[in-house]
Amino acid sequence: MPLRPRGPEARLLLAMLRPERRWTAAVLSILIVALTLRLSMPALLGRFIDEAIAGEPVDALVRVALAYVAAALVAEALQLAVMWGSVQLSWRVGNRLRERLARKAIRLEMAWHGRHSPGQLIERIDGDVEALVVFFTNVVVHVLGNLVLMVAMLGVAFLIDPWAGLLLVVAAIAGGTVLVKLRTAAVPAREAEREANAILYGDLEERLGGLEDLRANGAGAYAVHRLHGNSSRSWHAARKASFLGDGSYSVAAATFATGSVATLALGFFLHRRGAMTVGQVLALFRYSEMLRQPLEAIAEQLKEFQKAIAGARRASGLLDTEPAIPDGTLDLDRSESAALPVRFEGVSFAYHQDAPLAVRGVDLEIPSGTHLGIVGRTGSGKTTLGRLVLRLWDATEGRVTVGGVDVRDLKQQALRRNVAVVTQDVELFRASLRDNLTLFGACDIDDAHLVDVLERVGLGDWLAAQPGGLDAELEGGTSVSAGEAQLLAFARAFLADPAVVILDEASSRLDPATEAHITSAMHALLAGRTAIIVAHRLATLDEVDFIAVVDGGEVVEHGPRDVLAADADSRFARLLRVSGQGLLADEVV
Ligand code: ATP
Ligand code: MG
Repeated sequence: MPLRPRGPEARLLLAMLRPERRWTAAVLSILIVALTLRLSMPALLGRFIDEAIAGEPVDALVRVALAYVAAALVAEALQLAVMWGSVQLSWRVGNRLRERLARKAIRLEMAWHGRHSPGQLIERIDGDVEALVVFFTNVVVHVLGNLVLMVAMLGVAFLIDPWAGLLLVVAAIAGGTVLVKLRTAAVPAREAEREANAILYGDLEERLGGLEDLRANGAGAYAVHRLHGNSSRSWHAARKASFLGDGSYSVAAATFATGSVATLALGFFLHRRGAMTVGQVLALFRYSEMLRQPLEAIAEQLKEFQKAIAGARRASGLLDTEPAIPDGTLDLDRSESAALPVRFEGVSFAYHQDAPLAVRGVDLEIPSGTHLGIVGRTGSGKTTLGRLVLRLWDATEGRVTVGGVDVRDLKQQALRRNVAVVTQDVELFRASLRDNLTLFGACDIDDAHLVDVLERVGLGDWLAAQPGGLDAELEGGTSVSAGEAQLLAFARAFLADPAVVILDEASSRLDPATEAHITSAMHALLAGRTAIIVAHRLATLDEVDFIAVVDGGEVVEHGPRDVLAADADSRFARLLRVSGQGLLADEVV
């Protein structure tokens, strides 16, 4: 594993730092001043001792002592400033990268998200970036600073005595090599540790998300068993990484100790020959000890450096992932009417290469402003048809058009603006009611309009009962009932003013009284818009224009609702007859 970042990682790291050139330069300059002061301290100490031995007056000694104290204080203050500066730097750089990664992840298609658990994504967007942030806080500033300190220290040692300088160089090279070699070997282990953690947290997050189902189904023991397995793998990976990483410390410490002893011996020898003063010997010894600190700091940061390289590699991997669903270029023109036609032309689709077709050879036309009801068994492909309109997946064969334009040619933004979907799964955020409706201000809507829409979907009384009204905080999905959440989703669709509305079992969680309550609101939402309504309860489809019956991904019956209802032999008529007996559509088709 290379120590030096190459290719995409290096490009990413440089690109991250480029906008912060000046800040980095400023922090480095302060650091160099601080280090110079620290460098002067052993020399001052040596001078103090030599002057004391030579019997210099107390005044002179006090001056040297004061200079020593001043150097120490100012160096500490500057070090603090460097710390503050590098933290600022790293947060700015890190947040910028987090934003880029999050944008990229949001842009990637559903199939990609299917392959990556939420925990993996969190680790990628937060964990890996955290490693980079630590890198910028410590590594960039401290490693560079310590390198400068070391070179300067060796220079001063050479000035005191060339032999001593040479000895320190040898000690530095030996110690440094030991540290670097051993730590480089730890990179793959670090990477494996991160991956094991990603799996552990990804799994944990999924299990916690499904806590109720797990408990209800008695699958707790299985979940704990998996957690146990994942934790054990994570622990083994962490142990291996630590062993390889930290083992290098002891070896290096021994190397440095040997260097210090050799310096002291050389100093003693030179002093005996009168070539060096006691102060100089002491200063040299201090330098030999100080040499260890920056090298160890560099090696310590190397661990962060390795994590950062691994993080940068994965981050650039994510940034370089090309969406399998590339964005189109065309906009939708809605100037003529509020609605747009939708067509399926010979559409077939499979979720994966080897998966069976979820939709096969579907030809459907939904003229502008008309409503199509889709019925069919569970797993027959109803939801999939809606997903293809919204281009969450691309059709394997054939094409889907909205407003006469192939959805693949449309800008995703235009498509999302014009097609609204309401499903059973309503995502509510831990935020105010207003933010939940306007999606944190993504759409600019005044409060009067929000209240009006809430009243139209039948949430007027509910809103009145909320302390704080639109400012009421929703505790995610937990503080509202399933039915209320569904009505809020209707309200969101209303606010988007879409040309095409897809309702996928949208009213199935509502009790009959509530469902009746919103029927009129639903009609108001659908009026003048094109709609695809998937429903198991046929009463929901009383007023649609067309019906399509799907089975095994194929449309097995399609026609105007009235015609199909009147034709006693049609599947739909059969469904209507049995639905009077309280059966659901998919039990009969
Ligand atoms: P229901 O009435 O239960 O909602 P549906 O008619 O909406 O069913 P779809 O969700 O469209 O059915 O599923 C059609 C087929 O595609 C099913 O066999 C299902 O297992 C499969 N399928 C659905 N979603 C995915 C997915 N994300 N990845 C792989 N296969 C999927
Ligand atoms: Mg479905």
